[in-house]
Amino acid sequence: MAIPVRRVTQGAMVRKLPRAALLAALAALPFTATIAAATPQQGSGVAWDIVEGLTTEIGPRIAGSEAEARARAWADAKLKALGFSNVKIEPFKANVWQRGPEHAKLTAPYQQPLAITALGFSVPTPADGLTAEMVYFPTLAALEAAPAGSLKGKVAFVDHAMRRAQDGSGYGPYGNVRRSGPSIAAQKGAAGIVIRSAGTDSHRNPHTGATVWAEGATPIPAGAVSNPDADLIARIAQRGKPMQIDMTLMGKPNPGAPSGNVVAELPGRDPSLPIVLVACHLDSWDLGTGAIDDASGCAIVTAAALAAQKDGKTLRTIRVLWSGNEEMGMNGQGGGTHYAEMHGDEPHAVAMESDFGADNVWQVKNNFAPANKALADKINAALWPMGIVPHAGPADGGADVGAIIAKQKLAVVDLGQDGMHYFDLHHTPDDTLDKVDPATLQQNVDAWTAVLKVIANEPGEIAEGVGE
Ligand SMILES: [Zn+2]
Repeated sequence: MAIPVRRVTQGAMVRKLPRAALLAALAALPFTATIAAATPQQGSGVAWDIVEGLTTEIGPRIAGSEAEARARAWADAKLKALGFSNVKIEPFKANVWQRGPEHAKLTAPYQQPLAITALGFSVPTPADGLTAEMVYFPTLAALEAAPAGSLKGKVAFVDHAMRRAQDGSGYGPYGNVRRSGPSIAAQKGAAGIVIRSAGTDSHRNPHTGATVWAEGATPIPAGAVSNPDADLIARIAQRGKPMQIDMTLMGKPNPGAPSGNVVAELPGRDPSLPIVLVACHLDSWDLGTGAIDDASGCAIVTAAALAAQKDGKTLRTIRVLWSGNEEMGMNGQGGGTHYAEMHGDEPHAVAMESDFGADNVWQVKNNFAPANKALADKINAALWPMGIVPHAGPADGGADVGAIIAKQKLAVVDLGQDGMHYFDLHHTPDDTLDKVDPATLQQNVDAWTAVLKVIANEPGEIAEGVGE
């Protein structure tokens, strides 16, 4: 909201007002809403303490970095202080990537600076930049249709049209521009690629995120520009004049870097029963402080595990996994894979993950076998009063629990969060604490607690999940 000060301060007459009269006039203005909007929301409780603590005391924690190592030490101390047992750091090595200096501008047909960021696993441009013709493609399909060799020495620009969706479903297809676009451009001989960010905001913030080099593709420098910059490029492309870009992206691969998981338990009354696993990821991208992605997830699962045992131990042990290297953990390099290697022989009953910010949970899905229909009904009944509705469709957990789910064919419960605003912030400098609403964060904790109370106290057998 704009502050309507100008009505008072503009104009010679007003400037001549005595100071006391001016202050009185200012005091009469409706400032309340403006001040409330500008004041960071302050929460309380375990979940808020984790998001606030991790983003304040550690901040950005890209996988393989010294900051991610400090985050593991922070998590270890925090989980112990919260009363968890068997708290362990489980280190592993991963092929990740580190950012370098980055900037870009259009040099023809118009001089325009661009808000750009490198994609994870980009290779560096020459230190003094890559200057090349830039070719516009409205979609990934258009890039795929370009003749072989037609991009030799050029930079491809790929546009697209990601839109908001409550379930975040646009990220699959439009995120694919980031995941696959660079390989396709490289295979057609491009010297580099720039994409429209996979994001739904209109801020001048580019969204980073990892790309995946296809077998046989020679990596090229790859970056994403903000949505307003992509709009600009699209308008210039419509004018039909050749475009030239000058870009410097110095990020480079960081092979064999140290990462690690942090695991901790709240033991149950019957240690012989398969455990309940709840997960999040500790690493973050480096542009923001990783508040929604994914300090919030760690906060939610951890606070809910504790709340589920507030009135006494649950029957089954609840284990929390704060995974390392989720963001660059594709191709078996992530914490989820390492967890399955370390713990794949231990009996698990159910796995759940929180990695979609801190907005309200609105739907619940499961992959339970017909034999566990009564258990599913009990979970749904526990969520019904909170306005959370059962939804058909596969429940798959996510990257941090995917490997253990696949290995043990686990039962899964997904608590779906409102994703209307998630991709405004995801992987941008705007992923910061002020974007976390303490009330919706707590709603997540309450929903997770309700589910964990049912599952972790289930005495009967929890069967293997059924496939998608
Ligand atoms: Zn995440």
